[in-house]
Order: sequence, then C-alpha cells, then structure tokens
Amino acid sequence: MCFRPIELEKVIVCSKCGKTITHLPGMKPWENCPFCGEELTPSPPSGFTIHLESEQSTGETKNLGMIVALDLEYKLPVDISPVKEGEYEVEYIPEGSYKFNEWITTGLVSMKDKKKNPATVMISGDGTLKVSYKA
Ligand SMILES: [Zn+2]
Repeated sequence: MCFRPIELEKVIVCSKCGKTITHLPGMKPWENCPFCGEELTPSPPSGFTIHLESEQSTGETKNLGMIVALDLEYKLPVDISPVKEGEYEVEYIPEGSYKFNEWITTGLVSMKDKKKNPATVMISGDGTLKVSYKA
C-alpha cells in the first residue's frame, strides 16, 4: 500500500528539536516551532521546474507562439513550477503563419514522438521543453 499525504497538509520537521509539525488546511502555517520556538523555514515546493521556450528552425526569431500545458496557455519563455512527475499533454500554438516543426527536450524531460503536435511529454525531473517552428 502506498499512502500519500493530503495535498494541503504540509508536514515539516523542526531543525532544532526534531519534532514534526503539521500545517493543517485552512489554518495559518506555523512561523515558529510550537515546541521550542525555533523559526521555521518553509520547505521548498515539491516538484520540478520546467522551462518552456520556442525558436524558429533557422534561429531568426525566438519565443513566438504559445504552449498549452496543464490546460493553461503559456507565453514564452516561461518556467513552470512545481511540476509533478508524470505524463502531460502539451500543444504548441504557432503565431501567425508559422508552423510547428518539432519538439526539443533537454534534462529530465522526454517525448516519444517529437514530430507530433499535440504530444505527450514525460516529466521525471527538471528540464526544458523547447519547440522549433518554421516559416
Ligand atoms: Zn522545535
């Protein structure tokens, strides 16, 4: 069995006394440890940062068009964070008369068919999803 904590319930461990502090949904998060009074630093968001950008195949223009990911339209370039591990549907919407050319992935971002649009992208860590477009 795999138990995943509820999204809103953030658990942090005090760096001084080592006690576990739970942030309850709907309640103001603890600023200091309720046990020893130590100031608490918020834990970094759990997830990855994905950089989205686009470039013309000839390099003439950059970051035209938009990428639709997670049901949102993104103007380019942009960093999306936090992104959880998984597969996501992405679509490139070219600007004006430009056409989709291909996807270029770096880092822990991968794609099976880079000539498809829309396509499915696999996220397993930080990385870049770039789209090449042509005139
Ligand atoms: Zn403490």
